[in-house]
Amino acid sequence: MSDKKHTAFLNFLSESGVSDLQTEVPIPLNTWGKAKPTPVLSHISVAKEPVSSLTFESLDDIKQALETFDKCGLKKYAKHTIVGEGITDQPLVMCIGEAPEADEDRLGRPFVGEAGQLLDKMLAAIGLSRETNTYVTNVIPWRPPGNRPPTEEEIALCKPFLMRQIELIKPKFILLLGGAPAHALTERTDGITRLRGGWLSVCDIPSLPTFHPSYLLRTPVKKKEAWADLLSLQNRIH
Ligand code: URA
Repeated sequence: MSDKKHTAFLNFLSESGVSDLQTEVPIPLNTWGKAKPTPVLSHISVAKEPVSSLTFESLDDIKQALETFDKCGLKKYAKHTIVGEGITDQPLVMCIGEAPEADEDRLGRPFVGEAGQLLDKMLAAIGLSRETNTYVTNVIPWRPPGNRPPTEEEIALCKPFLMRQIELIKPKFILLLGGAPAHALTERTDGITRLRGGWLSVCDIPSLPTFHPSYLLRTPVKKKEAWADLLSLQNRIH
């Protein structure tokens, strides 16, 4: 492990209060940053997903369409429509969260509040950032009032826009942050505690559900499992 990665790893751990790395599944720390001989497809559970019904040619078109979309009631409570940010041309990883919260709505950018800062640290720990190789977005582009979970109807209304983003951006891997994106984009209905760490397929893209950073802030003990998920992603990437 390089010094930089080592520091990122230690920062992540000290944030989390993790004092050891024992998990039910051994973590391959000795293979940090190296290609892993893990067979890729044998671990992927494939969920059949329709492609988006939308035909927008660019992310700008999607953003414009969302600005004038009047079918989702969330929009009237939100200050901003927040589509996503980062590398838009075949990034290594696309992170998909649930919905913007107060800081995001105020600033008009995804994942800029406390959860976003934790997400950035998690990504940095495995060599990812929105500046270099990652795109960050949400299932829902508007903040639900009081940060309530989006309803199934709201998710269904916004899903075609997200699917089209995935089709246009063509990420190599997807990190599903929490139950909302995992349930919206796959046919799996288990809770995130069961889903996390198990590779799925979204639009034929290997996709890994993990805990949402907001949940990790509330439940730091779960950072240990999130770390195992990050290592699983890193092993696929390198
Ligand atoms: N939580 C999310 O799911 N998305 C954000 O952009 C911020 C917090």
